[in-house]
Amino acid sequence: MPTFDFDLFVIGGGSGGVRAARMAAARGARVALAEVAELGGTCVNVGCIPKKLYSYAAGYAEAFEEAAGYGWQLGEPRFDWQHLKTQRAKEIKRLNGAYRALLDGPGVTTLQGWAALVDPHTVDIDGQRHRARHIIVATGGMPFVPEFVGREHGLVSDAIFDLEPFPRRLLVVGGGYIACEFASIFNGLGAKVTQLQRKSHILSEFDEDVRQFLAVEMQKAGVDIRFNTEIASIRRGADGLDVMLERGTHLQADAVLFATGRVANTQGLGLENAGVALDDKGAIVVDAHYRSSVPSIHAVGDVSTRMQLTPVALAEAMVVVDALFPDPKQPARRRKVDYEFVPTAVFTHPGVGTCGYTEAGARQKFGDITIFSSEFKALRHTLSGRSERTFMKLVVETKTDRVVGIHMVGADAGEIVQGFAVAMRAGATKAVFDSTIGIHPTAAEEFVTMRVATSR
Ligand code: FAD
Repeated sequence: MPTFDFDLFVIGGGSGGVRAARMAAARGARVALAEVAELGGTCVNVGCIPKKLYSYAAGYAEAFEEAAGYGWQLGEPRFDWQHLKTQRAKEIKRLNGAYRALLDGPGVTTLQGWAALVDPHTVDIDGQRHRARHIIVATGGMPFVPEFVGREHGLVSDAIFDLEPFPRRLLVVGGGYIACEFASIFNGLGAKVTQLQRKSHILSEFDEDVRQFLAVEMQKAGVDIRFNTEIASIRRGADGLDVMLERGTHLQADAVLFATGRVANTQGLGLENAGVALDDKGAIVVDAHYRSSVPSIHAVGDVSTRMQLTPVALAEAMVVVDALFPDPKQPARRRKVDYEFVPTAVFTHPGVGTCGYTEAGARQKFGDITIFSSEFKALRHTLSGRSERTFMKLVVETKTDRVVGIHMVGADAGEIVQGFAVAMRAGATKAVFDSTIGIHPTAAEEFVTMRVATSR
């Protein structure tokens, strides 16, 4: 019988790793977790949380403007970047401590350092070896920056939160949700933002109407989005960074943010020592239960190839814990995460909320679909003086009447769509939406009052 120091060893103290470690320990397992940086991982330190705090900060710019339309007379608002950075750092430190407490509570042994696999049951941290019956790799992902001349002058999202000084002119490269969010945030905070996108649209994975609508609203708000444009080189010049574009034009910027995708964090982990298979993008290959090619090693979160979202990493971690250390009150079974109706938001200004199928995706999957959509000026903006508009769309499978897609661009879109996602998972039909009484006056009531189909 082999002896193990731990029942479970978790590599990575981010969203998925902390959830797996603390839940397994709470069920009586002997658990260790290794983290090389701060507890909380990407989401807490350089992702969801600081980004949302900065998004709130950006939102005040709009609020000050709008307040005048409601009779408020304010002096010239002045933004203090140092203050925001200090406050953010304080809050993140508090969260790091909260994560530590979540692990200490059930008795997880937390080890600081870079962990690497020696074999299917052994992890090495700075020369110390630990043997575990099961290992979960939850090392997340990292930003990817393409090769070009002057790449070293660019920065990635990890570094933008503490950028010094505040960039008066920011160039954001990329069209995904991280690029759009930072373009919106820095635009709101007062930078002149140019966003370069090599494709003809932003947010490739999203519904086409949403993509177009958001691009127009972001441009109206002041972001200069340039489509079908790529960077050729960056060089430091007399007036900041001199950015040469592929069609021969130039741009000057104080900082260039590359939000050009993320790759799995699998380098230097010793995965080859244990025989863990990777896909062609370098992510760990897992089956529907997050088992890698090695029976003792599971992988959850961004290090595998699924949706890169914190709640998804948490859900995957719970599936693994339930399989390895079943809750004695529940029947033991191998669960799976259902990725079909995962709601998600983009914290741009205005925001995006979405759940289920895009129109194109639904047409491919269900064939006959009916679309209901609506575009309007929210009540708030009748006096605010802003020309911002709201967009809402329902995608319905015609045969069953089931709502299979919900999409919104507008204030609080994420908050609104989260609630509707529950109804969608429960299989709500358009008839159920229609028979639901609206809350008046809200923007959200539009989702239950769209009576006339826009197309079929
Ligand atoms: P991570 O949270 O990345 O944790 C991995 C941890 O492993 C890190 O702490 C790392 O230091 C550690 N590690 C790596 N290698 C080793 C090693 N060898 N030894 C020890 N430790 C190691 N998701 C949302 O749901 N909503 C959002 O609004 C959102 N916004 C985002 C904004 C940005 C800018 C970014 C970059 C991401 C955002 N995400 C968002 C995605 C979300 O942060 C990730 O999906 C989530 O953090 C993944 O969790 P994870 O456990 O897989 O990895």
